[in-house]
Amino acid sequence: MMPITIAIDGPASSGKGTVARSVAQALDYAYVDTGAMYRAVALKALERGVPTDSPDAVADVAGALDFAFSWQNGALQVSVDGTDVSRAIRAEHIGQAASDVAVFPAVRAALLALQRELGARGGVVMDGRDIGTVVLPEAELKVFLDAGVDERARRRHAELVARMGPSAPPFTAVRDELRKRDAQDRGRAAAPLRQADDAIYLDSTQLSPDEVCEQVVALAEQRGARA
Ligand code: C5P
Repeated sequence: MMPITIAIDGPASSGKGTVARSVAQALDYAYVDTGAMYRAVALKALERGVPTDSPDAVADVAGALDFAFSWQNGALQVSVDGTDVSRAIRAEHIGQAASDVAVFPAVRAALLALQRELGARGGVVMDGRDIGTVVLPEAELKVFLDAGVDERARRRHAELVARMGPSAPPFTAVRDELRKRDAQDRGRAAAPLRQADDAIYLDSTQLSPDEVCEQVVALAEQRGARA
């Protein structure tokens, strides 16, 4: 059995990250979180006072970042230029800022080469919005992971409550934010969020992360993945 390449795309809080991580662990594959890259670009641009509405300025930031991914106690750590940004990139406003800068073709182009290089090694699970359509169109397995907006907002809200306690934003605000970000990700001209023609659609609304993981691992094994 050969290692294969697995692309997982879908809207915000559809469970992509959790599923991609557990599939990678089950198959002993690498995991690449491309959303973390867009989040890191937004974070660094904001930290440096770079105008996030300037495509060229943000693309310069994106092109110069040195990314490193590692695992610590089962959690993915993301470092940029030697600094751990794993927590900072998960802030709510960074998700929206990431979506804002991800609209620019120059920013996408700055990250594409690295993403393709990471994917070219095989034995990789990569998740994002355009992995099956643009980044790794030759991936042996493509999954489009979806879930109803209420369920996605419920999951996201529960995460925020666990992290922030009573200062977490209300459920309706979380849902509005998800809707806004999805509309922008689906509606942009450059590499919009879209199911690839040859992707398998999975709806996780009624499924646990373990159940989705099992289905994806089974699909990967059908395609010759080493388990
Ligand atoms: O997946 P995550 O929520 O971390 O992604 C943050 C934002 O980064 C998304 O809303 C999307 O705009 C952008 N993104 C993208 N292409 C990817 C991954 C993420 O445009 N492959």
